[in-house]
Amino acid sequence: MEHLNLDDSIKLSKNILVISHLNPDGDTLGSMLAVRDLIYKQYKKKPEMMIISKIPKMYEFLEGLKDAKHVSQFDNSMVYDMVILVDIAALDRICDAEIFYNKAKIKVSIDHHKTNNYDANIRFVKPEASSTGEILYEIAQNHGWNFDEKIAEALYTAILTDTGGFRFDNTSALTLKIASKLVALGAKPQWIYKNCYELKSKNFVMFQAHCLNKAEFTENDKIAYTIAYKKDFEKFSHQDDLTEGLVEKLRAIDSTEVAFLLKEIDNKMFKVSMRSKNIDVAKVTSVFNGGGHKFAAGCVLKYSAEDCVKKLIAEIKKQDL
Ligand code: AMP
Ligand code: MN
Ligand code: MN
Repeated sequence: MEHLNLDDSIKLSKNILVISHLNPDGDTLGSMLAVRDLIYKQYKKKPEMMIISKIPKMYEFLEGLKDAKHVSQFDNSMVYDMVILVDIAALDRICDAEIFYNKAKIKVSIDHHKTNNYDANIRFVKPEASSTGEILYEIAQNHGWNFDEKIAEALYTAILTDTGGFRFDNTSALTLKIASKLVALGAKPQWIYKNCYELKSKNFVMFQAHCLNKAEFTENDKIAYTIAYKKDFEKFSHQDDLTEGLVEKLRAIDSTEVAFLLKEIDNKMFKVSMRSKNIDVAKVTSVFNGGGHKFAAGCVLKYSAEDCVKKLIAEIKKQDL
């Protein structure tokens, strides 16, 4: 694939589309909004924003996201000059939107997943970056693009949420330096933190308590896991992702080396979220066609809950637990 320059490519593009991933998080949403606003500010071209699934309520404070449209609202025959993927580890994370990427004249990937290996004309893929937001800040800085308060807020949200509030091991000196610059540009840490983490519903907290209460421990408590069934989600109905931050609570236990959560999507179909303190769980999930980062990875398994647990534990034990 031909490799191109970002600045020239944007100048040549009449229409631009930015796509965020399935079950969006703060990094993909904040980065999508920031890249839209950066390009608009610099080039006076307004890229469209596409979501694959609903925006969680906790990110609605990023007002610009109101302009994002669901993939189903797009015309499939449309060909974009440029399609930018933000925080997309693999093309299956954008589901039906893959056709827009495949047809694009110029394909751009901005991402920090080490398993990212699909083709793009312009690749900004840095596995050592805390988040896609961090990479985007550097791109904007290196191109001399202008920031404003809204862009700073979106990028700060991306970085804050992907580092678990600057607690995970992906938080580097550079991450904090960029966060500091974003605060100087107008991002308000306390206000963003409150919106992301301190506006949870009673059902959210009670659901998490319920799942922690039925957690299982094995291999001398080195492996901790819990299973959230459809009936659990129904009992604690809530607009947002009830499992956000849940698997990290199991990893926080001193004896835990690997924690995982099984989330029932359908009969004999579970979404796996895995976290670790030392071992490479991206290796574990890639055995099941998933991916992610060393200490945070995921996959989807099509077995009974019991079989999922057995297969995952067997694979984890192959690592140096
Ligand atoms: P999650 O457990 O969903 O928060 O995901 C943890 C990390 O693993 C994120 O960086 C995801 O992008 C990645 N990930 C989750 N599920 C998959 C999957 N099915 N395929 C590839 N990467 C995934
Ligand atoms: Mn993400
Ligand atoms: Mn990310």
